[in-house]
Amino acid sequence: MSEVDAAVVGSGPNGLSAAVVLARAGLRVAVYEAADTIGGGLRGAALFDSDVVHDICSAVHPMAVASPFFREFGLAERVDMLRPEISYAHALDGGRAALAHHDLDATCAGLGPDGPRWRRLMEPLLARSADMVELLLSDLRGPSGLRAAPALLSRVLLHGTRLGPRSFAGEEARALLAGTAAHLIGPLPSLPGAAVGLLLAQLAHGPGWPLPRGGSFRIAEAMAADIRAHGGVLHTGRRITDLRELGGARAVLLDTAPTALPGLAGGRLPRGYVRGLGRYRYGPAAGKADFLVSEPIPWSAPGVGRAGTVHIGGTAAEVFRQETANARGEAGDRPFVLVVDPAVADPGRAASGRRPVWAYAHLPHGSAQDPLPLVRAAIERHAPGFAETVIAERGLSGAAYAEYNPNYVGGDISTGAIDLRQSVFRPVAQWDPYRTPLPGVYLCSAATPPGPGVHGMCGLLAARSALRREFGLPLPALGRAAAGVGGG
Ligand SMILES: Cc1cc2nc3c(=O)[nH]c(=O)nc-3n(C[C@H](O)[C@H](O)[C@H](O)COP(=O)(O)OP(=O)(O)OC[C@H]3O[C@@H](n4cnc5c(N)ncnc54)[C@H](O)[C@@H]3O)c2cc1C
Repeated sequence: MSEVDAAVVGSGPNGLSAAVVLARAGLRVAVYEAADTIGGGLRGAALFDSDVVHDICSAVHPMAVASPFFREFGLAERVDMLRPEISYAHALDGGRAALAHHDLDATCAGLGPDGPRWRRLMEPLLARSADMVELLLSDLRGPSGLRAAPALLSRVLLHGTRLGPRSFAGEEARALLAGTAAHLIGPLPSLPGAAVGLLLAQLAHGPGWPLPRGGSFRIAEAMAADIRAHGGVLHTGRRITDLRELGGARAVLLDTAPTALPGLAGGRLPRGYVRGLGRYRYGPAAGKADFLVSEPIPWSAPGVGRAGTVHIGGTAAEVFRQETANARGEAGDRPFVLVVDPAVADPGRAASGRRPVWAYAHLPHGSAQDPLPLVRAAIERHAPGFAETVIAERGLSGAAYAEYNPNYVGGDISTGAIDLRQSVFRPVAQWDPYRTPLPGVYLCSAATPPGPGVHGMCGLLAARSALRREFGLPLPALGRAAAGVGGG
């Protein structure tokens, strides 16, 4: 093991992006993954039928197509990213729904009197979309994307409060924004929720909310191929329990929960840093439901069946109430639920005539509740007859998720709550958030800025820090042309 310059522990999108960068810089890199397959939040599996792949964690990738890491990596040239015509829908009672088409004009046309208001909200953000992504997918410690700040800040200050929904006349537009803010999985309204919500909403009209053809694991495969093409090696079934197992690697990058670090360091961390990690807070859980179904979901509202992602959570006021109660640990019987029928964008996912349905519900931290009945009821409420199409199903509670992936502490799939403090000081308050007090040891998981989502930016920024400090090297080029090997 000491044969390598850099060791990466964990092969989620951030571990893999770190390894891509380090291998591209000419270092000898090894990745150690505890699970039997690589990918972390990008894994897929044939759960019920050998012909039907289910995304175990992430399914939809607005962050990946927008991310500076993946743009430089040339993700779209390596993986076919399929963009649904309707990025997302928000199902409402009474057979109604709000639709965020990829096309802004179509969205505004569907929102009636709120159409011009949605346009006024989105157009300035779309005009500064690249800057907004640079800003929100940065470590928030430099000038990246500051040109987006005026348009973004005024909107975050409004939509991060209860006044936000009042800027619309109807429930549809309100729900469209509340649903994207709910991706934060925390109390709402909030300033970080508004920032996340506005980012995702404008991406819906920009690069879209695409799905990788075949499943999310294709992204991990493309990254692993690039690492191997540059001499890196990936070991699976290797849970690292002590950093000393990594021998003499000059740099160690940890795609792990930060609170795993004291155990990995075996008492070598200074007490002050351990105390800082002790203040790190985890957020609510996700409970996953996977279905194998015989038919497309029979949504009652027109258009919802063409959406890549469907939000279920009622009106904006109900979403805010439920998310806030959930964050306080109060389970409700109508949690916020996200549903994806991947075959809507990728018909090949239903080639056998059976199709996967991916869904998860927001549940209290540490919840051991089986999410299956809640998710089934939520879908059935807006798509009567869904239950009859189900051939097989599986529920994974928040607690079970924590066992599946140690980064999802208490079922928190964001590896740390996203409140104002932890948006910036993630995991502790220091200028270089990736560096730890141990020489050569860096954190690179979603517990570092810019936080959760499949964007690879935590890995890129941690690798940049390690390259500069440990090897005196700049960031290498990441594109396929730079690879000279067709990206593997
Ligand atoms: C149900 C669900 C739905 C999601 N949906 C989306 C979505 O649609 N779009 C999106 O952008 N994001 C989504 N996410 C979030 C996204 O998957 C995560 O934010 C992202 O995967 C975080 O990447 P990471 O590299 O930091 O960590 P992870 O992806 O969690 O990977 C960490 C890896 O490290 C390994 N590991 C940990 N400790 C050790 C150790 N000691 N030794 C060896 N290996 C170790 C783990 O086994 C794991 O493979 C979803 C997540 C879940 C769970």
